[in-house]
Amino acid sequence: MNLAWQINQYLPRELLELVQNVNAQADKLGQRVYLVGGVVRDLLLGYPNFDLDLIIEGDAVKLAHQIAGISQAKLVIHPRFGTAKLSYGNFALDMATARGETYAKPGALPTVTPGTFSDDLSRRDFSINAMAISLASTDYGELFDPYQGKSDLEHRFIRILHPESFRDDATRILRAIRYEQRLGFELEPQTARLLKRDIPMLDTISGDRIRHELELVLREEYPEYAFNRLDELGVLQKINPSLKGNGWIAEKFDKARRLNNPSQLLSLYSCILIYPLSERENEQFIHRLNIATKLSRALRDTLRLKSQLSFLDKSSLKPSEIYYLLHEYDSLAIQANAIATESSTVHSYLQLFLTKLCYVKTLLNGEDLKELGISAGPELGKILQALHKAKLDGEVNTKAEEKKLALSLKL
Ligand code: ATP
Ligand code: MG
Repeated sequence: MNLAWQINQYLPRELLELVQNVNAQADKLGQRVYLVGGVVRDLLLGYPNFDLDLIIEGDAVKLAHQIAGISQAKLVIHPRFGTAKLSYGNFALDMATARGETYAKPGALPTVTPGTFSDDLSRRDFSINAMAISLASTDYGELFDPYQGKSDLEHRFIRILHPESFRDDATRILRAIRYEQRLGFELEPQTARLLKRDIPMLDTISGDRIRHELELVLREEYPEYAFNRLDELGVLQKINPSLKGNGWIAEKFDKARRLNNPSQLLSLYSCILIYPLSERENEQFIHRLNIATKLSRALRDTLRLKSQLSFLDKSSLKPSEIYYLLHEYDSLAIQANAIATESSTVHSYLQLFLTKLCYVKTLLNGEDLKELGISAGPELGKILQALHKAKLDGEVNTKAEEKKLALSLKL
């Protein structure tokens, strides 16, 4: 099957030019270039995907250097993996030397050997991701589909390439569910059976790799679908016994999407995910996934604040009381609790803090107070805090009012 016409229609003009540049150079070097992975799948499905992965039969880094030399494209090389990334405007091309892989033991990182493009396809996760399109001038557009990926796309199946696939690399369990839910496909029956059999193999996977795959799930448009399925299959419980992917999570994820700015959405989802966990289980989760310090703090604060919410569940708290109950918590933890709480009083206090109170500043600072004759030290700190509380509660508004209050508090 030849897809030359589809490629030319599908790719934006700039990207097509870059690809053609790569080809021309590869031809000169006697190398063959193939488009592989997600883009081939999405091209056949008609979904946009401009993260292009190329495999090269030959030295990908050498080829990438040549392209960078003759075009405007920016080049980043990863010498350890023999891969290169060319960026051009909003587009990027990942180039890798075709390779084969063997697994010394389950879950270990594979041993990599140079190989042909068909070796490269054989190490992949699912048939729908194991297709390639030739970009060489002699057979430009020709589809290579050794595992019947196209037929699986048509039958809407996620299928592994061989029965040991999940054992070799159990992150594929998470990947299978991610694609199943994103595309609305089903696990092919044998794949479903092996996936269930190999769930215990998740214990062979490092925290960093599990975390990476969970992040990919969280980047999906509706990650709750995948979490629901991972829960149903017992995959989440293998990562932490109290993790859930139920209707509660779905409802809260949906709220998070409506509220939060996208740059922090992943972290906010994570705070919601650990909400049903005890502090001890949360520590196990942080440790298992080797979560970085910043996010760990937000996760811990989420549960710490959850345990203190009863202090906020009263009507008629003053703004200054709300502020000083909350100001030491990570703002993501406050957002997560605002989303998670069932109390409308607590919700509105948390929102008030996030949208207003946390920005309130006094007009006078420490230097101004010193000029009023207040000596540096504990007294000054106390007066500054009193001014801040008065400002929060609307008791002072102008500089003159702050000055008057400060002087009245002076010993
Ligand atoms: P998308 O980015 O749309 O989720 P993708 O197919 O580009 O899909 P990536 O996670 O970017 O997915 O991986 C690129 C390709 O690398 C995949 O298509 C797959 O062929 C291969 N791949 C990634 N992870 C694995 C894995 N654990 N085992 C085997 N192959 C993998
Ligand atoms: Mg990708």
